[in-house]
Amino acid sequence: MNTKEVKIGNKVIGGGNPILIQSMCNTKTQDVAATVAQIKELEKAGCDIIRVACPDMEAAKAIAEIKKQINIPLVADIHFDYRLAIAAIENGADKIRINPGNIGSTDRIKAVVDAAKAKNIPIRVGVNSGSLEKELVEKYGGVTAEGLVESALDKVKIIEDLGYDNLVISIKSSNVMMCVKAHELIADKTNHPLHVGITEAGTLRAGNIKSACGLAMILSQGIGDTIRVSLTGAPVEEIKTAKLILKTLGLRTGGIEVVSCPTCGRTQIDLIGLANKVETMVEEFSDLNIKVAVMGCVVNGPGEAKEADLGVAGGIGEGLLIKHGEIVRKMPETELLDALREELINWPR
Ligand code: SF4
Repeated sequence: MNTKEVKIGNKVIGGGNPILIQSMCNTKTQDVAATVAQIKELEKAGCDIIRVACPDMEAAKAIAEIKKQINIPLVADIHFDYRLAIAAIENGADKIRINPGNIGSTDRIKAVVDAAKAKNIPIRVGVNSGSLEKELVEKYGGVTAEGLVESALDKVKIIEDLGYDNLVISIKSSNVMMCVKAHELIADKTNHPLHVGITEAGTLRAGNIKSACGLAMILSQGIGDTIRVSLTGAPVEEIKTAKLILKTLGLRTGGIEVVSCPTCGRTQIDLIGLANKVETMVEEFSDLNIKVAVMGCVVNGPGEAKEADLGVAGGIGEGLLIKHGEIVRKMPETELLDALREELINWPR
């Protein structure tokens, strides 16, 4: 969709730029050392933009020190207290995320908008199905996609009427289909960039599946400028999932794709263990854009590995190393992981 470009620190979203990946720290923001360490870990994993919670003044003030030590843009997440939003902006936040609905009077919203305007930083206007206004719940007979869209656009209008349009919109719902519908509806009504995600998606398994389903339906329609996968788990898992979703949808290149067989009665090596180790091992080769196959047997293995650039096919306690579809070496099962890694180290770049 044709959205406006919005600059967040040293990154740009919208306007057809690549979809950027976000996550949120789960450290105490005022614990600068822990927060910086987590941001660095996330940045290394592929996080483009990081958000931190600012529940109090100490957290808002910690932003200044955190910013000195990180390279990616930092977003401050504020609820209820407009003074925290202003403090976060004054301390160098590259963007703030607020829900104008819980910031209070128009005067207070104006104070926040004026502070953002002075530094020309974007405001993400976020609405969430869990906090949809009573009037809209009544108007639409429950929490609905239409109600979420109206709520988001009402809030955007409040800020636009205050003379500011450096905005990003997010509409989140833990109901995947409602979230998809809301994005379809709002994409036709605004050109502000959209921050897309399925909120409260759940633990690793449920969260990954719900996020993948929802984001695939939304992103494949050309809707969405930045994404956050929300997981009840380590934030680094959110980055891994987001990268895989974008890569699967053909919206991002780079990094190794691992394909592996489901195993069957023919498997005679610990293929599940090997595939998991390979998946972790390849993370260090983000500069390669190739496919690695981990197959269980020589019946289908070599054939299926032909589709990949590099692969292994298991035998009885041993395995074949396959490169561009050709068998290059046979070795004991225990050496397969190291052999793959060796190939990747020496892979032409
Ligand atoms: S590659 Fe071999 S072991 Fe794996 S599922 Fe296919 S037939 Fe079974």
